[in-house]
Amino acid sequence: MSYEFSTIIEPFRIHSVEPLRMTTPERRRAAIGEAGYNLFSLHADDVLIDLLTDSGTGAMSRDQWAAIQHGDESYAGSPSWFRFEAAVKDLFPFRHVIPTHQGRAAEKILFTAVGGPGRVVPSNTHFDTTRANVEATGAEAVDLVIAEGLDPSSLHPFKGNMDLEALDGLLRERGADVPVVMVTITNNSGGGQPVSLENLRGISAICRRHGVPLFLDACRFAENAWFIHEREAGQGDRDVADIVREIAGLADGMTMSAKKDPFGNIGGWLALNDDDLAERCRNLLILTEGFPTYGGLAGRDLEALAQGLSEAVSHDYLRYRIRSTTYLGDALDRAGVPVVKPIGGHAVYLDARALLPHIAPLAYPGQALAVALYEAGGVRSVEIGSVMFGRHPDGSEHPAPLELVRLAIPRRTYTQSHIDYVIEVVTAVACDAQSLRGYQMVYEPPALRHFTARFEPLG
Ligand SMILES: *Cc1c(COP(=O)(O)O)cnc(C)c1O
Repeated sequence: MSYEFSTIIEPFRIHSVEPLRMTTPERRRAAIGEAGYNLFSLHADDVLIDLLTDSGTGAMSRDQWAAIQHGDESYAGSPSWFRFEAAVKDLFPFRHVIPTHQGRAAEKILFTAVGGPGRVVPSNTHFDTTRANVEATGAEAVDLVIAEGLDPSSLHPFKGNMDLEALDGLLRERGADVPVVMVTITNNSGGGQPVSLENLRGISAICRRHGVPLFLDACRFAENAWFIHEREAGQGDRDVADIVREIAGLADGMTMSAKKDPFGNIGGWLALNDDDLAERCRNLLILTEGFPTYGGLAGRDLEALAQGLSEAVSHDYLRYRIRSTTYLGDALDRAGVPVVKPIGGHAVYLDARALLPHIAPLAYPGQALAVALYEAGGVRSVEIGSVMFGRHPDGSEHPAPLELVRLAIPRRTYTQSHIDYVIEVVTAVACDAQSLRGYQMVYEPPALRHFTARFEPLG
């Protein structure tokens, strides 16, 4: 007899535990007030379930902790560096690998080298730090995601795809001003939605035709490759690692945050084929990150990442990972909570505009929802809407295309009962949506304002 079981089994058992701190609604209301209604300003031990980000918050494996013991802290030429470089090149065979302390350091180095006033950098959707690093050089960051990618209810299987005609048009008009084309896999700011292999092949062909290099923002390459494996015709029998290598072969380089799919608590890299550009980037690396065989990382970090990379492409892990994110999204959808569909890889995105039509975009409906989830149940999420993207380099403020609240799922960290609790909290807050009020921003810094802005409730 062969049976089909539907329970999602975590493909690991727990080896070392970390206590969670229980808090009361009164304590949480006080804490969020003191934090200026900004969830980034909370003390993390006032948070019960932390879905702020999946970045650097994953649980390392036994084998990663063991690898840390092999960390060699030689300043130059550490064996840990060579293991790391080999693990990166096994999946992404670019000629040069430049280690950085996290993804944005790789972005800062790349755009310092290729950005500048008058330049344009297209992407499907730039992540916030990518956009900020492009704009900090005076260049323009342009998002060219397909129309379905901006429609929270569209069921397109690859909503992270780039609009190929728009890319071709931009390169035809302004190709000389475009130093690189970026593509974010999966598309974090667009709902954790994947990009198809077919679309990546198309982007690559257009870039090559115009002689413009293509760079991957590859933080969730393994989750993206799993979606290709599951959803794209003809890909179901392939090894995920093989799909990843094909994607790498379509590009000329990548920026990477190893705090995502490779299970790092810290880390990142820049990789590329161009020798001259690599040399300029290494010279910039030395100014701020360190020597090219460690970048911003300790030898032990390099070891943990090399091991994590091999675990990130495990089919058992990826099947569990994507199914468990879908489990949360499907349950909320069934409860009538508006969510971005299909459910993405690393997070479930609540559609705050649909849930809170009575709150104007610049009264920040996403912020109102995120604060309410914290007050009600100690669940920390993050606004991805007009707080994050509403302020423009010319000083003007406009509503963002989407008002989302992201529930990001740390890797291998929470169990299904934690997620069942989150489902209860979100459903309860959604039932009371009418009672939520908007916010006004009473302080904002000049860039990346969502990290340190302060708010006051309206009315
Ligand atoms: C996290 C992330 C980054 C930036 O990486 P950090 O390690 O946080 O600096 C860039 N792009 C995407 C798509 C990301 O998710």
